[in-house]
Parts: sequence; C-alpha cells; structure tokens
Amino acid sequence: MDNYFDNAATTRTDDEVLKEMLPYFSQSYGNPSSIYKIGRENRKAVEEAREKVAKAINAEPNEIYFTAGGSESDNTAIRGIAYAYKQRGNHIITSKIEHPAVLETCKQLEKEGFEVSYIGVDEKGIVNLEELKNSIKETTTLITIMFANNEIGTIEPIKEIGKIAKENNIIFHTDAVQAVGSVKIDVKEMNIDSLSLSGHKFYGPKGIGALYVKKSVRFQKFVNGGHQEKNKRAGTENVPGIVGLGKAIEVAYSNLEEHNKKIKELRDYYVEEVKKRIPYIKINGDMENRLPGNSNISFRFIEGEGLLLNLDLKGICASSGSACTSGSLDPSHVLLAIGLPHEIAHGSLRITIGKYNTKEEVDYLLNNLEEIVSRLRNMSPLWEEFIEGGNK
Ligand SMILES: *Cc1c(COP(=O)(O)O)cnc(C)c1O
Repeated sequence: MDNYFDNAATTRTDDEVLKEMLPYFSQSYGNPSSIYKIGRENRKAVEEAREKVAKAINAEPNEIYFTAGGSESDNTAIRGIAYAYKQRGNHIITSKIEHPAVLETCKQLEKEGFEVSYIGVDEKGIVNLEELKNSIKETTTLITIMFANNEIGTIEPIKEIGKIAKENNIIFHTDAVQAVGSVKIDVKEMNIDSLSLSGHKFYGPKGIGALYVKKSVRFQKFVNGGHQEKNKRAGTENVPGIVGLGKAIEVAYSNLEEHNKKIKELRDYYVEEVKKRIPYIKINGDMENRLPGNSNISFRFIEGEGLLLNLDLKGICASSGSACTSGSLDPSHVLLAIGLPHEIAHGSLRITIGKYNTKEEVDYLLNNLEEIVSRLRNMSPLWEEFIEGGNK
C-alpha cells in the first residue's frame, strides 16, 4: 500500500511512460537540432510527442510549445500575451482562485503598469460570469481563468467564458494543469486561445509541460537563446521529458472514462464514509462540476496542519490546501474566496485520489482519519467550549 492521496500535487510516473523515456537518456541522447542520425531521430520523437499533445486537446501541432511545466506555461502565456497586445490595452481579467503561477504573474504585471481585475466565485468556487462580463473594458486584452481548481476541484464554465471572450475580441488563456488528463478538452469548441498543461499532474514526468497558443494569437517569448520551439522558447529540448509527456497524455485520453469512473467511485465512497463517521464537517466545492479525484473537507475545531502531521505518522500523504502554500499559516486564498471563515478554512483536508489508489487504501485512510479527528478534537479548546455550550 502506498497511501498516496495527493495526486493534485503530483502523480507517480506511469511505468509505460517511464519505459518510453529511458532510451532517450542513454542510447538516443542526441540534440534534436543536430543533423546526424541520433539528432534527427530525436527531432522525430519530439515532433511525434507534439502531435500527441495537439491531438489530445484538438489543437494543431504547430500551436504546441514545450516548456518546463505548468508554471512556465502560465508565466509565458500571461506575460507574453499581455506584452504582445500592449498597444491595444493594458487590462487583464483573472479570478481570485487561480494558482500562484497565475496570481503572482498578474501581481507582477500590475507593478509594471498593467491593470488586473480579480473576479470572485460563488460558494462552490464557480466564477461569477456576470462580474466577468461587467469587468470587461475597452482596454481588456486578456482573460485568464483556470479550467479546474487545484484545491477544491471545481471545473469552471470554460466554454461560456470562451464565448464571452470571443464576443468581446479578448484573448482567453486557461490554466488547465489540473484538467488535462481528467477532463475532455477541445480548444476549438471551447474557444480557448491559450492553455497550460503539465506532465507530472497526469502520470508523466516532472519538469515538462506545454503551452498551446492559437496560431492567430501573438505572444512575446520568455526564454531567450536558440531557435528552438519556433523561436519562442529557447533551450535544448528536454527530449526524455517531451517523449514522456506525449506518452502520458496519450495514455490518459485512451482510458479516460474507465479511469475517471474508478477514481470517482473511490472519491465518492470516501466522502460518503466521512459524512457517516465524522460529525461537524463541511464539504467544500461543487459536487457536480468537479474533478473526479478531488475532495476537500473542513473538519471543524481542528487544524489542517495537525491532521497532516498525524496522517503522515501513519504513512498517509495528503494536503491541507495547495502544496505551494502549506508551510505558511495563512488559510488558503481559495477557501477564503468561497466564503469560508478563517477557523473553518484552517481545518481543511484535500484528498486527491488517483488511478493507482485502491479501496483498501481508502479504508485505511478513513479508519485513521476518524481516530485522528476525534483525538485532535479532544485536545482542542474550541471543541471543549463547543461541548460545554451544550452542543453535543
Ligand atoms: C501544479 C499546478 C501548476 C504548476 O505546474 P508545475 O508543472 O508544477 O509548474 C499550475 N497550475 C495549477 C492549477 C496546478 O495544479
């Protein structure tokens, strides 16, 4: 048993993916820009992977740029598009629940003279489309809203947002790092102009991602140097990573329904059992428009950090919010944006189920969680006050 329940933070590389990657570290180590055989072969491998990525989201291969992951794709898209269209306007629209790769890029752009509107979400985490429409100005050039949230799993109304962007002649970028590999994506049908994805979130390797940018959309390059990636992203291609990314996306979409069904069943079982076994909880996010493996539950009267430490003692890996923010004592910006009070946001546990999890592992998690929550509550002054107030 692995007891790994943090698949939104990263996933184990699929054995099939790893197997495809290995020869590119050893026998076939050539630089794809070189003209001799091991160079040419690697160029071919890179272009085949590009076709696989394009096919998965219904884009064209020449609209795919390989990057070092989701964060680089987000940075490149947002900065690159904002600067390329600066003559037209300096206003960007995003949401309050974005990943730091988007939020921090927007904050940086504000310091550089851009104007950013941060759209709110409802209690389920769905962006307010009216607020989005009302925020559009003459100077708006870019809307960047995530496809699915990494903490609460909510899937945003991407097609509607794409339509609004198109009608107003605004470029639409989406951080789809959590969605790719779990949700069917068609960039044409959804009017997506730009999209970020990352290999390690769907059983591919870490440190490799891709950015899709529609042919007609311009963006300024971010990494300067050689002429790789159509002169848009310099640096010798990460051939093993690119091959792994291509394989991972192919595997994910060839078994999508089957995997999602199994993952969702386990997730629903977990949530139902928690509801049955543990009182005073709050289920966060939307149960309809939600990533199949995600659950986010607040346990009142306890701290998420205490929960995580105790779960870790039992060999269970989970998260209390986004992995990037754990370690800080601020409650998650996503949980605050859906309206949770600080004390409830603090007691939140994110369990993200993946394709390697088993029912046996979920049962082990449930048994330990029940015991730990009860023990931590018995030590909590808030719980004591609550009980003494005649609440039990
Ligand atoms: C993980 C994640 C990222 C960052 O991707 P990296 O490949 O780790 O840089 C960006 N956005 C979302 C929604 C994520 O979940």
